[in-house]
Amino acid sequence: MSDAQPYDLVITGDIVLADRIIPGGHVAVRGEVIAAIGQGAPPPAAKLARFDGKLVLPGLVDGHMHTSSSTGWPGIEGATLSAAAGGVTTVCDMPYDVPQPVTSPDVFREKVGWVERTSHVDCALYATIRKEGGIEEIAGLAEAGASAFKLSTYEYDAHRFPRIDHPTMLAAFAEIATTGLMVAIHNEDQELVVKLTEAAKAAGNTSPIWHCRTRPPITETMADLEIFEMALETGAHVHIAHSSLARGFELAKLYRGQGARTSGEACIQYLCMTEEDIVRLQGFGKCNPPFRTAAEVERMWEAVRAGIVSYVSTDHAPWPRPKKEYHGDIFAVGAGLTGMQSFAPLMYTLLVERGLPATVMARLCSEEPARFHGLDPRKGGIRLGAEADFCILEPGEFVFDERTIRDREDARWSPWHGRAMKARVASTWLRGQEIWDGTEVKAKPGTGRFVPRQHRRSALEA
Ligand SMILES: [Zn+2]
Repeated sequence: MSDAQPYDLVITGDIVLADRIIPGGHVAVRGEVIAAIGQGAPPPAAKLARFDGKLVLPGLVDGHMHTSSSTGWPGIEGATLSAAAGGVTTVCDMPYDVPQPVTSPDVFREKVGWVERTSHVDCALYATIRKEGGIEEIAGLAEAGASAFKLSTYEYDAHRFPRIDHPTMLAAFAEIATTGLMVAIHNEDQELVVKLTEAAKAAGNTSPIWHCRTRPPITETMADLEIFEMALETGAHVHIAHSSLARGFELAKLYRGQGARTSGEACIQYLCMTEEDIVRLQGFGKCNPPFRTAAEVERMWEAVRAGIVSYVSTDHAPWPRPKKEYHGDIFAVGAGLTGMQSFAPLMYTLLVERGLPATVMARLCSEEPARFHGLDPRKGGIRLGAEADFCILEPGEFVFDERTIRDREDARWSPWHGRAMKARVASTWLRGQEIWDGTEVKAKPGTGRFVPRQHRRSALEA
């Protein structure tokens, strides 16, 4: 195709790349991919979309979310609707689904079918293994296009979300190492959490703060050490699925220095929420690991600035509202927060509040999660040849309102309801098509596609 021919689409605005911002720039699109990036007068195009004065970011890639923990695969539809409205164009969905976790290639392919029929945005999929056995399925799951594996040191449910014992985990890591995929781990020590919870309940300590007290930092770092030792032993790329502690990233770096492939991600709540917030929010502030102290939030930002946080995700888990209501026993409340639709405005706000540029967001909420899930070079940035996925942010003074969440009625709750935001998502584009115009989601169920892992290179070796 000649360069003289008009582009299909040109978007103007301040273009946010991973390393710099192009003020008064433009991105030109042919078909579904980015064909040119420039500054100044926009080139001829069949369609011109002007976002002058707004930020054109790469579509966000949420490396960690749960569409189907409470509703099963029908949950994909609503969770991805809120993604479209939130500027998130690719989600990496966890495998702990009801009634059937993703433990075999057949189940994986069945879930891919649901994604292709019902998703509003593009979707990569994690896979997992059964509590007993299941290691023989790992190669087939990688072959089917899984972006990563997920295992847990803590048991929520023996079938859906089991604890994997040490011998099984070690064998699983050795097998996963041969696939080249990352394995993300839910990192909490089972014995400590169970004992501390039993003791709290026996003493009648069931108010919200006891969720934090029964899962102190040591419960997390004990699990980090176990999995990193096994990483060193097996050569697998072992990744903390959510570190609420700067120490998790420091340990990952320490083990990398010793030759292991270790990394970790922060969820956005650990970059702003504190223990006081669970007292205020009660059940709607319950997640695992729990919120930490204000001093720990500061240390988390030091880890971000030091470049040891691999990426930032949401851990979005849209539990039905009744499951989050506190009636005197915090232990009876489901763990997990909604965070998809607030992700982009909140991340931008936190960066503004800390004097950091939007490029950090392009890197930690798009480029890096895409790389860790092997979705590059198709996903994760405004680059020539990448898919034309954009999140357009309109800077200003806004307030996040949970009633605007585009998901089923009982999932319209947010721990950030009422929070002041420094931007809103004015528009979202998926592969060259606008899927959110600031008011309405234009994507339909099935507009989104399954995105298989593109290669077997580890993000730690690039
Ligand atoms: Zn999670």
